Amino acid sequence: MALSPDEEKWRNKGYHHVCKDCKGMLCCQYNACTTSPDDFDGDPCQMHSALLSGKYSIDLLRSKKSFKVQGNILVLDFDEIQRNPKEGFYIRAKNVGYPTVDIVHEDDSKGDGPCVFWSYQKGCQLSYDRRPKFGRTLIPMPLGGCFDYYDRYTRQGLRLQIASEWKPYHNVIMGFLYEFCEPGKIYSIKGIPALRII
Ligand code: SF4
Ligand code: SF4
Repeated sequence: MALSPDEEKWRNKGYHHVCKDCKGMLCCQYNACTTSPDDFDGDPCQMHSALLSGKYSIDLLRSKKSFKVQGNILVLDFDEIQRNPKEGFYIRAKNVGYPTVDIVHEDDSKGDGPCVFWSYQKGCQLSYDRRPKFGRTLIPMPLGGCFDYYDRYTRQGLRLQIASEWKPYHNVIMGFLYEFCEPGKIYSIKGIPALRII
């Protein structure tokens, strides 16, 4: 994937040396970063290969509306997810020990990381150019307060930006769900059988 002129500029901007001391305390240790379809040249085959590599997961920007009740469990409401601009499937780097379809994590304050590409000694094993878009657009700053430029062109907020970039791939990811998810499996939330993905 070719870097945009801005990314070429930003790769040298900020204070990347502070990452050495920080060791990903607020990013890579905490949660694996989000890709954009551009990271795969918009090509479903490349997305598929990434998922097959075992290093990437499918996740969901969700709200309570993403689910509907069926019997005594919840199921994903695919029509609502496609319709709602704040919801949507997307692909991100995988968190260690988590599955390829990683929709049922609990998003608690400890996070779900570390990322599979991260190590305490070496940080991110991917070169800057091969990192997911969120990683490329995260500008490190001393004393925390690192900020991301993911939505730099639209300024619509990170969540809306990610959801809108991935919307055209809703059906592609639905196909991946059927491949990488165990149909009929009931997932537990806080120990209670609660959710079926497909
Ligand atoms: S980007 Fe920020 S939070 Fe992440 S390692 Fe660098 S300084 Fe730490
Ligand atoms: S891909 Fe690299 S930059 Fe992104 S979370 Fe993983 S280790 Fe960090």
